[in-house]
Amino acid sequence: MLLRPAVVLTSLLLTAGPAAAKVVSVRPPASGGSAGASVEVDRAAPVDRSAGRPLAGKVIVLDPGHQLGNSRFPRQINTLVSAGPSRKPCNTTGTATNAGYPEATFVWKVALAARRQLEAQGAQVLFTRGTNSRSQWGPCVDVRGRAGNSEGADAKVSIHADGSHARGARGFHVIAPASVRGWTDDIAAPSRSLALAMRGGLGTGGFPRANYIAGGDGLDFRSDLGTLNLSDVPTVMVELGNMRNAAEARRMTRRAGQAAYARALVAGLGRFLG
Ligand code: ZN
Repeated sequence: MLLRPAVVLTSLLLTAGPAAAKVVSVRPPASGGSAGASVEVDRAAPVDRSAGRPLAGKVIVLDPGHQLGNSRFPRQINTLVSAGPSRKPCNTTGTATNAGYPEATFVWKVALAARRQLEAQGAQVLFTRGTNSRSQWGPCVDVRGRAGNSEGADAKVSIHADGSHARGARGFHVIAPASVRGWTDDIAAPSRSLALAMRGGLGTGGFPRANYIAGGDGLDFRSDLGTLNLSDVPTVMVELGNMRNAAEARRMTRRAGQAAYARALVAGLGRFLG
């Protein structure tokens, strides 16, 4: 969930968990905070797009929205950071199901599953946070927005879920950056292509387009999100569904459902990068 007024921090790219191939110089975040880290991408690695590794050589950033502990660090989370042409709060707490299953945890699980699938296809996957922890916060939207820029990532997907209380509200929507001169005019066109690909992947995966937002076509374009505005690589935000919808909440909180969302994201990335 992204509140209209919200966003940013500095330079953080982490691989999620152990054994991230082709990534070096990763420094995990300091306990209790959002620390910077550096990542170098080994572009000299041999590229083999044959034999079921169609994404070999591709660098993909996954941004699981909202650290789990954000609500425990209100001062840090409300600090204003760059969102591109404006300043916004560092981040928000995200939403949850009616039973309290957090968006932060849902998107983390989806990102981990997607990472496994993408790596199996040969891609290198970078994360914007290395933990899902109640004792940590961040990174802010500016860090998320800049993630992948210095690595020249091929695509970046920010993963979220919405929290609408509107009756019967359900379905996904994909948010691409509107073209803002000096900020996103260089990535608006490829990001729109990425958005169409992600919408296709989610549709093929059986997920319905949102019936309560984005005009019914599952696509939205926004100029107010630092996560998108600060990117120099093609990027979109996906709101995978409505956590306040009982049927979608069931799917989002189950392992099989999380894997299905991940497959849909990976399918979308495959359409864009293939
Ligand atoms: Zn969110």
